[in-house]
Amino acid sequence: MASAYPVHLVLVGPPGAGKGTQAVMLERELGLKQISSGDLFRENLKNQTELGQLAQAYMDRGELVPDNVTIAMVAERIQRSDCAKGVIFDGFPRTLEQAKALDEMLALQDSEIRLVPALVSSDEVVIDRMTGRRVCRNCGAVYQISYNPPKVEGVCDVCSGELYQRSDDSPETVRNRLYVYYKQTSPLIGYYFAKNLLVRVNADQPIDAVNQAMLQAVKVVIE
Ligand code: ADP
Ligand code: ADP
Ligand code: ZN
Repeated sequence: MASAYPVHLVLVGPPGAGKGTQAVMLERELGLKQISSGDLFRENLKNQTELGQLAQAYMDRGELVPDNVTIAMVAERIQRSDCAKGVIFDGFPRTLEQAKALDEMLALQDSEIRLVPALVSSDEVVIDRMTGRRVCRNCGAVYQISYNPPKVEGVCDVCSGELYQRSDDSPETVRNRLYVYYKQTSPLIGYYFAKNLLVRVNADQPIDAVNQAMLQAVKVVIE
């Protein structure tokens, strides 16, 4: 199917399913812009902005940052010119209110969501993945100690930066994040199904197999 740009994709799925990992690969493969609300919050935290300070308490507990601030942050970000070809939304929206706000902000730009790949994964798998996640303090690259380890332990392959474990990837917080996902985010599956945008991808496979399945899924809106 021929299609005009911008092509906006929304990745949904539980924490640890691999949204960020896949979004980075798709960004490179499709030339779209990945926007991760979690990364935007972590950047604000690092730079000690007012927004970062507000978000921190919620993030530490594994709860969602309030809709109004999250929506404002993303609305501002998608104005930039690097989003012109399309955005891969990673971790946003996470509530029905955010989903409706995203529809409205895209409508203001005369655009819309084209496809919503849902990463379907089992609870044990995402808990296991998240507890072994490591992130580069410098460039944000994401590793997994068992499934996607760096060449040298604790050191980023890309930039030699130091790898750290996110404080919200502790076993206690991980369970609460999964709970929050089921309660507040999983209704998005129904929301996008009803709009005929949902396509399910089996995320319980190795990274490259998931990537192939993702490419297959997005083909219909990209070509
Ligand atoms: P994960 O990749 O494991 O799903 P994220 O990096 O996306 O985690 O998010 C980390 C934390 O940032 C969340 O637990 C939440 O506190 C906050 N956050 C990220 N995106 C949103 C959002 N769309 N709405 C509210 N809070 C968010
Ligand atoms: P999300 O953004 O959905 O929270 P991430 O992309 O950060 O998920 O992935 C969670 C962790 O699992 C990371 O440590 C990542 O390296 C690893 N990971 C991602 N996809 C897979 C996969 N298909 N198989 C094994 N590990 C994976
Ligand atoms: Zn790095």
